[in-house]
Amino acid sequence: MEMNKYQYLLQDLTKLKGVGKKTAEILKQKKIFNLFDLLFKLPKSYVDRSEKLKINQLHIGSVATLKVVVKKYSFPRIRNLPNKVICEDDTGSIECVFFNSYEGYIRKILPLSETVTISGKINYFKKKYQITNPTYVSKDSSIIEKIHNKYTLTEGISEKVYNKIINQILQNLPDLHEWLNPEVLKLFGNESWKSSILKLHDSKNIGNLNSDFYRRLVFDEILASNILFSEIRKSIKKNKKHKKIISKKNINDLEKKVNFKLTNDQKKALNEINYDLSSDSKMFRILQGDVGTGKTIVALASALNVIDSGFQVAMMAPTEILARQHYTLAKNIFPDKVKIDLLTGKTETKIKKNIYNDIETFNTHIVFGTHALFQKKINFKKLGYIIIDEQHKFGVRQRKKLSDKGGVNCDILLMSATPIPRTLTMTMYGDMDLSIIKEKPKNRKEVLTYSKNEAKIDDVLKFVKKEVLNDNQIFWVCPLIEESKKIDHESAIKKYDYLKKKFPNQVAIIHGNINPDDKEKILKKFLKKKYKILVSTTVIEVGIDFPNATVIIIENANKFGLSQLHQLRGRVGRGTKQSYCILMFKNNLSENARKRITILKKNNDGFTISLEDMKLRGFGDLLGFKQSGIKYFRLADPIHHDGLFKLAENEIRRIEKNKESLLKFKPLIKLYDQAEIINDLV
Ligand code: ADP
Ligand code: MG
Repeated sequence: MEMNKYQYLLQDLTKLKGVGKKTAEILKQKKIFNLFDLLFKLPKSYVDRSEKLKINQLHIGSVATLKVVVKKYSFPRIRNLPNKVICEDDTGSIECVFFNSYEGYIRKILPLSETVTISGKINYFKKKYQITNPTYVSKDSSIIEKIHNKYTLTEGISEKVYNKIINQILQNLPDLHEWLNPEVLKLFGNESWKSSILKLHDSKNIGNLNSDFYRRLVFDEILASNILFSEIRKSIKKNKKHKKIISKKNINDLEKKVNFKLTNDQKKALNEINYDLSSDSKMFRILQGDVGTGKTIVALASALNVIDSGFQVAMMAPTEILARQHYTLAKNIFPDKVKIDLLTGKTETKIKKNIYNDIETFNTHIVFGTHALFQKKINFKKLGYIIIDEQHKFGVRQRKKLSDKGGVNCDILLMSATPIPRTLTMTMYGDMDLSIIKEKPKNRKEVLTYSKNEAKIDDVLKFVKKEVLNDNQIFWVCPLIEESKKIDHESAIKKYDYLKKKFPNQVAIIHGNINPDDKEKILKKFLKKKYKILVSTTVIEVGIDFPNATVIIIENANKFGLSQLHQLRGRVGRGTKQSYCILMFKNNLSENARKRITILKKNNDGFTISLEDMKLRGFGDLLGFKQSGIKYFRLADPIHHDGLFKLAENEIRRIEKNKESLLKFKPLIKLYDQAEIINDLV
């Protein structure tokens, strides 16, 4: 039965012969939990042990397989001296040398006078051939005389054990019912899943990443991910919600208050959001826009419609200071009748209780806050809209949870300042609708980017002095020398002391060791221009708006990735004044660092930069997705397999259009996503 076949593949590793708790634990560390996971760890190379040699044909330093007779033992019983076994064939003799093996074990695998096959690397020592700790010893030559794959091994698992494990799975590999469409399958030379997996582990195919079988497996993986997204979307859109009413007047009033007009892209995004709000299916949308493109006002304008329609709004930001900034802005521009609250982890208990109460009794319309907003004990009376700012690290499961949380009537908007290429967006956020703001407000001047050798710090100081005299503010980001926070702080403090002497009373510092209260105070003072220069480690908060900061100096710029540098640079150039980014570096830049700096100097558009970043670093490393666990592919790579991602997109569209039953895809999704999330979907 089909069911059992994939259940077999999802079994625990301990179900295999030769895999005990210890081995399973080691594999778990490598994120290999079951048989299926193991299938996607590819062999890196192989060792040919198929040809048997005579002792007089041996090459020193290479791996050989020999058939020999066991002649004599030498067990010296002195610590640190190895046990030895002398073996012979009709052309000569060879010593098997064993470190850390007991006499009993050696006698068992190499019984006196018997013929055995051994395989290992040949050494020559004191005029004798030797094999130290032979990889294979067996009376059954057939299990040795073949090609053995080499996998990237984890400490604690030998090549022999690993091969034994993987071969067990391959031997019992089930033939799964084909889920691919015949036309699609043809594109991959009609390779079935089973034959593809077997070929993946065939030493002949190592490194053959453009073959039909490999691409088929990549496609399977992308398709599984897309079907999952499609199902989540469908399940979210399925329930009918209360439509919200959109008023044109709101945005006109707001524009008057903020004293600027929305850009065309802002208008377009706002229209898309409003359209969703006014429809009878739930909005599940992501608003993507480069730093400084003005996402906040779009979110607030849409929120006002929801409030006018008689619902509450919750807007979450990743940090207190950013939440407070949104809160303050709303206070300034929303009509007086709108009741606004701020709730963060730091809000006083008494005030907190009042706010909880207001939320429950509909005495507040919109609440800004950090993740404190979504605690269990907070019950919105009539929540109609959740806005999440700067949460590009929300994975698909967290998003699904979020969408369930608000209930049917609650629309959802995520905002991200991480522009990414389209294929990648589909890959990461395929479950959501997408709005993009590319255009920056017209009054902006492009940030001018320069690079400067550290030795020329005096030039930089001269420039800083000029800016300070012009009443502009400066961020000074300190080197990220090592992964050590302590050292980072120290270098920031050093720079702070240095700058303080040159600019008395005008320099402040924030770093990870400063407590959040003080940090917020310092940032607030900086916002109010009490300081001119803010020295910091990389903790300059995402999203905060400092329109008066015109210079950002980034030391050791070569240590940052492109997208990170772009984000940092986005802290300036948010007002009307000309802004500057100075990338400082030490003498010997690597080729790659040089490329990054050049790209950044030439480009100000986050989409272009992230594409370049992807080309340089590969998808896995981009924006730290690998660490964040947002999306994990076994074989697929959005850069390398761009075409297959597009093919999968078309295939999903076809499946959706034909309302094709998902039954045949069930094993695919079960195997590839292994997620509880699908249980209630498929
Ligand atoms: P982000 O998209 O990075 O969140 P913000 O919403 O913080 O950007 O906006 C950055 C700055 O641009 C703010 O000071 C905001 O007032 C201003 N701004 C937003 N939209 C416009 C516009 N259409 N014209 C001029 N300034 C704008
Ligand atoms: Mg923002």
